[in-house]
Amino acid sequence: HQCLAYKHAPLYHDTLLFSTCKAKNRYVSAWDTGRFDRMGLRERPQSHLALPQERNPLQAADSHKKYYIESKQKETFLMVLNIAMDGPVGAGKSSIADAVAKRLGILHLDTGAMYRAIGLTALEKGVPVQDEQAVTALCQALSMTVGHAADGQHTLVDGRDVTGFIRTPEVSMAASTVAKYAGVRAAMVALQRRLAQETPMLVDGRDIGTRVLMNAPVKIFLTASAEERARRRYQEMVNKGMDANFDDVLRDLRARDEQDMHRAVDPLRAAEDAVTVDSTNLTFDEVVEAILRIVADKTGGAWA
Ligand code: C5P
Repeated sequence: HQCLAYKHAPLYHDTLLFSTCKAKNRYVSAWDTGRFDRMGLRERPQSHLALPQERNPLQAADSHKKYYIESKQKETFLMVLNIAMDGPVGAGKSSIADAVAKRLGILHLDTGAMYRAIGLTALEKGVPVQDEQAVTALCQALSMTVGHAADGQHTLVDGRDVTGFIRTPEVSMAASTVAKYAGVRAAMVALQRRLAQETPMLVDGRDIGTRVLMNAPVKIFLTASAEERARRRYQEMVNKGMDANFDDVLRDLRARDEQDMHRAVDPLRAAEDAVTVDSTNLTFDEVVEAILRIVADKTGGAWA
């Protein structure tokens, strides 16, 4: 069986540009030149390396690595900015992370989507999510790919894009259950590290500051009261025209909090060096601005 591996495959582009640009005396890398514009960098990119699309994701990962090394030799160094963002269910991590990453011109990696993809696969294949051994075996047999397209992150299991199927309440609960298993977590953590090592990104999840990116220069713990988080989740469901009941939403949220904070392996908690942002009484924009100030502060103004 092939082990779970991150395939850094240029899935969504015929040609992927890997460019490097000098900004504020640091080299930054980006996957597309448009990102330099979004970052407001005026200097021309220093190098363009066109990566041919590979059909086999494993080969693509290898060729990507080769080009990366070649480009690294040409340049003095590449600064890879990693931001770790953790917090409980419904704290607004995903949308806040999207907005912050966009402002900084970096990618947002939603690690919850990866646990959701495993939960979904277990449900679809009839593997009982309570059966640790069976779920771990399933996880080790499947191959997961995470890619970023213009409309955001896409998560693929054995080549199938599951992005549209992972946001249901059943999958949320299944994700939280499979996320308890050490074997599943080890595979996911390895994948996430490999990703973040090569590309500047904001990674959101539950164990990013405490496990995945223990050395990240910026760590945020985003939280809000349980009632406020449930109220937002409920409103979101109502806006989407979904059938929702506030008490059910609050109960599910508390059950997931409970499971995430009390599991044996890497439970949800703030890293000692994380800055806590409580969004209970803040607007969306205020949270984004607060986080950008923390990033600027922690990076000596380099990423203001
Ligand atoms: O963030 P999201 O709600 O999409 O995550 C789904 C579930 O995946 C969480 O309830 C949590 O149990 C798990 N998870 C995790 N570690 C992460 C991200 C998510 O355990 N880094």
